Amino acid sequence: MAETLDRTARGVFDVCVVGGGVVGCAMARRLTLEGLRVALIESGSDILAGASKANSAILHTGFDAPPDSVELDCMRNGHAEYLSIREGLNLPLLETSALVVAWTDDEAVALDGIVAPAHRNGVADVRRIDADELRSREPHLSHRALGAVLVPREHLIDPWSAPLGYIRQAVDNGAQVLFGARLLDGVFDGRSWRLRTARGEIEATTVVNCAGLFGDDVERALLGDSEFQIKPRKGQFVVFDKASVDLVGPILLPVPSALTKGIVVTRTVFGNVLVGPTAEEQDDRLHPTVDRASLGRLIDRAVEIVPALRDMPVTAVYAGLRPATERKEYRIRRVADRNYIAVGGIRSTGLTSALGIARHVFDLGWGEGNRPVPLVDPVCRPMPNLAEHLPRDWESADAGEIVCHCERVTRREIEAALAQPLGAGNAGGLKRRTRAGMGRCQGFHCSARVAELTLGVWEVPIAKKRGEA
Ligand SMILES: Cc1cc2nc3c(=O)[nH]c(=O)nc-3n(C[C@H](O)[C@H](O)[C@H](O)COP(=O)(O)OP(=O)(O)OC[C@H]3O[C@@H](n4cnc5c(N)ncnc54)[C@H](O)[C@@H]3O)c2cc1C
Repeated sequence: MAETLDRTARGVFDVCVVGGGVVGCAMARRLTLEGLRVALIESGSDILAGASKANSAILHTGFDAPPDSVELDCMRNGHAEYLSIREGLNLPLLETSALVVAWTDDEAVALDGIVAPAHRNGVADVRRIDADELRSREPHLSHRALGAVLVPREHLIDPWSAPLGYIRQAVDNGAQVLFGARLLDGVFDGRSWRLRTARGEIEATTVVNCAGLFGDDVERALLGDSEFQIKPRKGQFVVFDKASVDLVGPILLPVPSALTKGIVVTRTVFGNVLVGPTAEEQDDRLHPTVDRASLGRLIDRAVEIVPALRDMPVTAVYAGLRPATERKEYRIRRVADRNYIAVGGIRSTGLTSALGIARHVFDLGWGEGNRPVPLVDPVCRPMPNLAEHLPRDWESADAGEIVCHCERVTRREIEAALAQPLGAGNAGGLKRRTRAGMGRCQGFHCSARVAELTLGVWEVPIAKKRGEA
């Protein structure tokens, strides 16, 4: 099991971040760069075990975020920080822009109501475009479209390399990570926390709860009660084959309703077209299942929007769970007399806002007079690139063996993804680090070779047969 936890000389961390989703990874990075001794504990055997493993991968501008909200602030700051660090960390950006498309007369009227709030949210380049401009920009869009709002800086990113890049930078600069370490409970003695985890005890002055879908459980385990209640909201997706990628340019958004941003048709940085997500309440926090009827409706909707998708094969389907709560807003709060900060309810925008949330939490917890000394010239290593619009490893002359031919993944990419620290902790983590098995054949051809290359790495090998001990 991947593990990098090693108590500091004094045996007490400044901060324990609970949860290795995108928010926890960004949190560990920010607090480490600010000069704090940070431990991150994660119940899974790798990062991204919860909500963050499945999303639409849109880097939002915040054009439609609630005005004057913490969410808007964090989205704006998160968007800006992603752009400022992405070159150093070699994180991709697919500059697509987005179109909010009207399909009915009522929606066409509603478009005007999108532009003014977007400007008030500081996204000044948002503007209306008419049906003619829409058609010339998006030739494959159904001609039933009546007009749109253009959002020029709404873009796409790699939803998995980004959080991995954040946590890797944290670890490169001294943070420690413990996997398989579900937080069970903790005692606060007035100065610091003694936290009991599935992997033993850990002591930290402050706890930052980034436990996503289990945020309320963690708050109850530490404070005895929780101020918020998680109400998971499932989103199902369909991924079309790479042959479809030229059919979609900008991210195609619907005019949103009060409940959801609605069904999106978008490219991915990996060169596919994605349609989704649905918005379905469910009690189960662990199993984002898919169902044939919902997937069928998504495909039908995608074909209504981009008719040429009718002929395109589907490569994969998946679902994710948003860590929504009984209220719409982010549930970020500090309990000063317990050295505890909750970062709950980061439902539909957390990939974008994570870096902004981390700054917000740092300001909340470590104000004037309490500031640590930030690191000077922190280590910043580039991430391997998986985006299709940028050079990939297989294109280099010395690439060597290709293991996954659908996604063109090299053996050395797989070996690098298994290397410590923060090597893939399970088969899902390896897929997210390399894309091996995520293509057209869904691992039919490469899984035997991947099993060989990973033999002995994990407690549960890929090749283990059902029922085998
Ligand atoms: C369908 C869908 C589409 C989305 N699209 C977008 C998008 O396009 N753009 C965007 O910006 N955002 C998007 N999001 C939102 C984004 O994915 C979420 O906001 C984000 O993943 C929430 O991250 P998190 O770190 O708060 O939670 P999680 O990812 O759930 O992380 C919490 C972590 O804590 C761990 N944990 C839980 N309990 C414990 C414990 N007791 N001890 C230790 N560890 C624990 C879990 O294993 C998990 O790894 C989307 C989300 C969904 C579901």
